Amino acid sequence: MVKQGLTCVWRARIDMVDQQPQSSSSIWYGWARTSRANSQLVNCDDVNSAKAGIQDSAYWLPRGAGCSYGDAALSDGGRLLRPQFPSEIVASSNPNSVRVPASMPLGELLARLSLEELTLPVVPGVLAATVGGMVAADVHGKNHQRSGSFGNWVEAIKLMPPDGEYRWCTRESDRELFEGTIGGMGLTGIILEIDLRVVRRSDSLAQVHVEATDSIAQTLDRLEKSSRTADHSSAWLDLALNSPSLGRGVVIGGFLQSVEKETVSQLWEPRSGPVFPPMPVPGESMIRLHNSFYHGFARLLPVVRRWPLEKLLFPLEAWRDWRNVYGKSGFYQHQCLIPESVRVAGLESILKMIKECQISPTLAVLKMMGEGNGGLSFPAPGVTLSLDFRNQAGVLQLLNNLNALVAEFGGRVYLAKDSTLTAGLFQKMYPQLDQFLELRRRIDPGGRIRSDLSSRLGM
Ligand SMILES: Cc1cc2nc3c(=O)[nH]c(=O)nc-3n(C[C@H](O)[C@H](O)[C@H](O)COP(=O)(O)OP(=O)(O)OC[C@H]3O[C@@H](n4cnc5c(N)ncnc54)[C@H](O)[C@@H]3O)c2cc1C
Repeated sequence: MVKQGLTCVWRARIDMVDQQPQSSSSIWYGWARTSRANSQLVNCDDVNSAKAGIQDSAYWLPRGAGCSYGDAALSDGGRLLRPQFPSEIVASSNPNSVRVPASMPLGELLARLSLEELTLPVVPGVLAATVGGMVAADVHGKNHQRSGSFGNWVEAIKLMPPDGEYRWCTRESDRELFEGTIGGMGLTGIILEIDLRVVRRSDSLAQVHVEATDSIAQTLDRLEKSSRTADHSSAWLDLALNSPSLGRGVVIGGFLQSVEKETVSQLWEPRSGPVFPPMPVPGESMIRLHNSFYHGFARLLPVVRRWPLEKLLFPLEAWRDWRNVYGKSGFYQHQCLIPESVRVAGLESILKMIKECQISPTLAVLKMMGEGNGGLSFPAPGVTLSLDFRNQAGVLQLLNNLNALVAEFGGRVYLAKDSTLTAGLFQKMYPQLDQFLELRRRIDPGGRIRSDLSSRLGM
């Protein structure tokens, strides 16, 4: 009963997040609402309907909950195939693993696992994302240096490539297809089911250490220290144009804390949160005011606080739809990785470029990263910076310049957030692209899996 309720609430949540008519051709958006495409959505509720969806389409793309910011889950003129399988979690052959349908939203999976006192070691900052979408983007959390990315915890993938014949692939069998699918942005086929390793969970609170910093070098230094000791770490940066120093910020490190056994199963119940209050699109003065207040608050208040784990891992879920603040014109997110060896110089150059352009990001977040999974997977040793910009004059030029600067530093842009990268820069950023393209040619010789991202980047 509880489980059925969870499924209904989370299905409704995805429909709310990814709201469009579902039969005829219509306009679909990326999460940030600046990328759009005309496509037909087909919900696939079993293997046969997925196969029929593939066979009836000239070209197609798997779609999850549409939480990728740009055009990764869009296919203009093509068909979007959205798995909607029964929400069953079954034991897999390995006692530490579960078998889950690709269509299950993260929030529902966490809620169901918590009933068994289990959890996932790696989560992104959005509860509506589906398990298939998380594998396809090889998502990372605030603990990448400790736990790696989502793909590190995947044991087997049931995949339907363009030939319509599904197969299970693992690191041992069909390794190339398995590794190419992790981070492969849906371009190897429809992920139907996944065997995932899970861990015991007895913690639902975090002791949170908050530290205000005065420069980008100090922020990086404190973030690195926090990443070594805390379970989850990130840093917020004040990039308002009038900020007194380049890259001052607030470093947040969370240490998980155990709670009484009875309260564990109550966690992760879907909450819709209050609606974001109506307010004008944040301009320069509002960003300045918010940032001064946030930085000042972190400096003044006690450095150790106790937060529910959700607040630490999913801060944006506190609001029902914070995207509304950007209005109909939407926003952009640029998320890049700067390699370890050049992280201070790389970040300083990025921050200077933003300042010279006279456009402040509404939100800027840093996280440390460790070893990645290769292929098209984003993580690699270094530091990752996410920047949200409202859609305004000059922002596209800034994003193009940022992409070029990141490539110069040997870094890369995260495909799940991207909508502006060029094919030339993409080739520089992902050295294993040729191997991925070779795999694509083998399993999809007709090039029938197509996203707007893959067309733009020449994949
Ligand atoms: C508020 C917010 C916070 C976020 N925080 C993080 C974060 O901390 N870390 C992080 O790494 N990411 C983060 N993301 C990005 C998000 O986790 C990824 O974009 C993820 O892929 C979204 O899953 P989805 O189900 O919505 O997939 P979609 O956006 O629908 O699709 C993303 C890609 O996955 C493919 N895909 C989807 N389902 C399948 C399937 N069944 N089979 C094959 N391919 C499929 C699509 O073709 C597409 O290329 C965040 C996004 C938001 C909106």
